[in-house]
Order: sequence, then C-alpha cells, then structure tokens
Amino acid sequence: MTCPDSDHNLSEADDLNIHLIVSAVDNVAEENKDQPKPTPFPMPLPPNTTPAPKPVFMPGMSHRTEAPAPTSTAIPVPLQNHEDTASDEPTKTNGEAETSSSIELPRLRLHIQDIGHEGSSVFLSAVNASTVLKTSIEDISKHLYTNPTFASAHSTTPTPTRIRPQPPPTRSVTLILRDMDGVAYTTGSDLDSDHKEIHFSLRYIRSIAASRQTAEITGVVTHELVHCYQWNGKGKAPGGLIEGIADWVRLQCDLAPPHWKREVAGGWDAGYQHTAYFLQYLEERFGEGTVCRINNKLRQERYEEKPFWTELLGRPVEQLFEDYQGTIEKKKE
Ligand SMILES: [Zn+2]
Repeated sequence: MTCPDSDHNLSEADDLNIHLIVSAVDNVAEENKDQPKPTPFPMPLPPNTTPAPKPVFMPGMSHRTEAPAPTSTAIPVPLQNHEDTASDEPTKTNGEAETSSSIELPRLRLHIQDIGHEGSSVFLSAVNASTVLKTSIEDISKHLYTNPTFASAHSTTPTPTRIRPQPPPTRSVTLILRDMDGVAYTTGSDLDSDHKEIHFSLRYIRSIAASRQTAEITGVVTHELVHCYQWNGKGKAPGGLIEGIADWVRLQCDLAPPHWKREVAGGWDAGYQHTAYFLQYLEERFGEGTVCRINNKLRQERYEEKPFWTELLGRPVEQLFEDYQGTIEKKKE
C-alpha cells in the first residue's frame, strides 16, 4: 500500500508536466499561523472503500525530492462572505441565519505526470480540469464550514449554539495524477504541511466504468480535498472518523458510488461510508450542521472520546451508534 519511489520522480526528463493554475490565494491569515500542524493517524482499511495507501496529514511522507518550492501569491478569493474573525464563542444571533463560509481558495495546481497514460485522457474528458478542484472546495465549504443555525426545533443538544467554523490554513493543493497502485491519498508537502498534495492513480482512473467516470473522479477528488480542509482533534481523532467525515461530504454531494450502503458491522468508527452514514444519521437526528460542529470541535480540542461526544450530543458515541443500529434494523423489518 505504499507508493513506489520509482513512480514518483517528478523531474524525469520524459515526463510531460501540466501545471494548471485554477486560482490563486496564498496569504494565510496571521491568526492561522499558530494552528497546530496535522499529525498522522493510523487506520484500518475496510473493504469496498476508497483506499488510501498512506494516511493523510503526514508531513514528510512524500517522496518528492526535486520539485520546486511552492511560490506565494497575493489576493484571497472568498467563496462567500468570509468571516475573518473566527472565534470559539457562540455568535450572537438576531434571528437571521448566517450562511457565511470560511474557506478561501488556495493556489490550485494540476500535475499530470504522464499525459500519454490512458487514465489521463479519461480524467480530462470526464471532468472539467480547470474547475473540478474549485467546485469541490466550494462543496466542502458549504457542508463543513457554513455557519448553520443550531437552535432549531430538531436540535436536542444540551447547549444549542452557533459557531464560526474556521478551516485549516491550507495554502495550496496540488492534484498529482500518476501511475501508482491504489486509488488516492493526500499528504503534506516536504516543505510545509500547509501545502497539500493529492496523489490520484491513473491506473485506477483508467479502470473506472465509462458511466461512472465523472462521478467517481469527482467523488475521489472531493474525498481527498476534505482531508486538506478538515480538523483532526489535535491528531487524536480516530482515522475512521476522519475518513467518515470525508465520505460524508461526498455523500452530501450526491457522489456516493452505487455499492455504498448503510451497514452497522464494524462499529461507529469503521470509517469511510460506514461512518459516513452514521454521521448522516446524527445530522438528521440533531439537526443540520451537526457534522460541521463535529469538525469544529476537532479543531478546538484534543479528541477524547467520552467527553467529545457527551459534550457535543449529550451521550456517548456507543449509545448513539446503538440508536443508529436500531433505526437500521427497523428499516429492514
Ligand atoms: Zn481518505
């Protein structure tokens, strides 16, 4: 499940490199500089999921040795009304729902390591290469960083509050299409984990059925981009929760593969779509924005299972999962 060094030499003379600058923003807010760097988290790989040969958020794991250092650019491009003063304090409300989101577009790059590879043709014909990253980030912004109203009639949380979600200080994302095993993974660059690389397998892209190419490529890109923009409880969140949030966003974008289904085997943190459907249950039960709050709590504090869930949703996660299992069983009857 590792990526072969031999496939990862970006400086090979016979490579045809395409750098597509979709948009440019690089000046991260000063307050983000003190944010902790993401740390690695091991995780099991359930079947029928999007394999990640390497864990995400692992600075220094990249084999890149000769690529040029990322360059800086200037003007931030807010996706919507940007909140420049993120705070842990609940926002004072005046009855109006706030819908501002926090993700600013970073510098986005596309690197096609082998333009002659059949997977490259599939990618370029199935998605709009100049907008797929931007659109996916907008979707992530909508689902993980849009300020929801929690004091709804559906909410049974102990202290319904509104939050000011703040994304990690990701400064650039480079999508690298290359010939490798597996499907895709995300990592920090050698120089700075705020610069993310998404490695996506050309072999895998080539193997996707024609009817599924657009949805599958966009779905994988969305999943990996979530890893560039999610929090991890100071590195202590279970890998299954991290992967579950990534697939939950994919689910919200109607990009779920046909084989995904609600399953309770493996526990709440089985990861990927298993956890994604559990998160969807929580979203429906506790109100829109619940996963956004989970992600925000993973920003605020070191993850400790019992207090994390009890403080957020009023009961332990095992109990919530049992309730979820109950609803699945009922639907089967
Ligand atoms: Zn993942």
